[in-house]
Amino acid sequence: HLEGPIPIPDLDPSKLTITLSESLKPIPEPESLIFGGTMSDHMLVASFDPVTGWSAPEIKPYGPFTLDPASSCFQYATNIFEGMKAYVGPDGTPRLFRPDKNMTRLARSAERVALPPFNSDALLELIKKLVVVDKKWIPNLEGHSLYMRPTIIGTRASLGVTASDHALLYVILSPTGPYFRTGPKPISLLATTQNVRAWPGGTGSHKLAGNYTSGFSPQRKAAKQGYDQLLWLLKDESGWKVTEAGAMNVFVVVGRDDGDIDLVTPPLDGTILPGVTRDSILAITNAHTAGKLTLPGIPPTKRIHTHERPFTIADMDRWLEQDKLQEMFAVGTAAVVAPVGRVGFQDEDDSKIRDLLLPSYEGGMGPVSWAVRKMIVDIQEGRFEWEGWSV
Ligand code: PMP
Repeated sequence: HLEGPIPIPDLDPSKLTITLSESLKPIPEPESLIFGGTMSDHMLVASFDPVTGWSAPEIKPYGPFTLDPASSCFQYATNIFEGMKAYVGPDGTPRLFRPDKNMTRLARSAERVALPPFNSDALLELIKKLVVVDKKWIPNLEGHSLYMRPTIIGTRASLGVTASDHALLYVILSPTGPYFRTGPKPISLLATTQNVRAWPGGTGSHKLAGNYTSGFSPQRKAAKQGYDQLLWLLKDESGWKVTEAGAMNVFVVVGRDDGDIDLVTPPLDGTILPGVTRDSILAITNAHTAGKLTLPGIPPTKRIHTHERPFTIADMDRWLEQDKLQEMFAVGTAAVVAPVGRVGFQDEDDSKIRDLLLPSYEGGMGPVSWAVRKMIVDIQEGRFEWEGWSV
């Protein structure tokens, strides 16, 4: 009975009620922030019932929920979420970066786990209202922002192994500092052949909480071996294909014989999360090559050709041998761009880890990583207007 048109009523911003907290929390110094450790004063909440539809949304003081222990989210992981940020512009106005993309992705995730559909324009309108209520929680310092976590959980209170026809939607906010506090430092990745994150027909292209759970133990092992993150691979007849790095998309910069550059990222084949940062980097790089904008520090005549196509660890080995692999970087909302300095690869039949070393650059970032990072951050923080991305 969850199929067909969205039950009436849908999420309706005109029904919003706002109850302000009577005990506002002290706002921490931006320098002391640890990612996800502090929550703002308020949250947005709405619930779904199959008979009455979406409830009137509420903005109310941040606080715990009471849920039935049999709730679908506890038993069958009907948990989906988004990660997006609010920035303060030079004029002091809060800004969101391409938030429609996150709304569409959340709607796709809901569909994938059969959680109830919702009007994503309405949710965005409500999120904007929440950001305005907690505006003073956006740290007004370069590289700082208010991380937003829209979440939907299944609240059907029954052990029957079936879709959840009840749900709770909420959005919480957490002030956050830059991923690299003391300037960019290349990260190390352990390319694992022991575990896979996603597979054809699976859920890798959706933002389901369960996609992350299965990475925690491999991630902890990688950390014990001295690596910052995992490089997730997937094997097929072409070899060990590179897919994602931790919870980030990946790019490599490969030199060409004609002096141009290839910028390669794995394709959206269903095993990769369609990242907003990934999409934005492809778009601004294409705009540079088309002469529509100039990436900082890259001559307008330097052509960067983007490719969404698979590449393998063996391709990386070969490019390194030919001195063509110039940069590798991981991208996502949290870090924007993280340069990669080292990739440890442990083949299935080889217990020893072999390190692939990427070229190192003064300041920690290669020219393409630096240019795309600067351009994205300038658009996010409102210093550069592009395609209406910052709203
Ligand atoms: N891959 C995964 C698995 C992620 O969790 C994220 C973060 N949402 C990304 C890539 C990057 O996506 P975005 O640029 O939209 O943050």
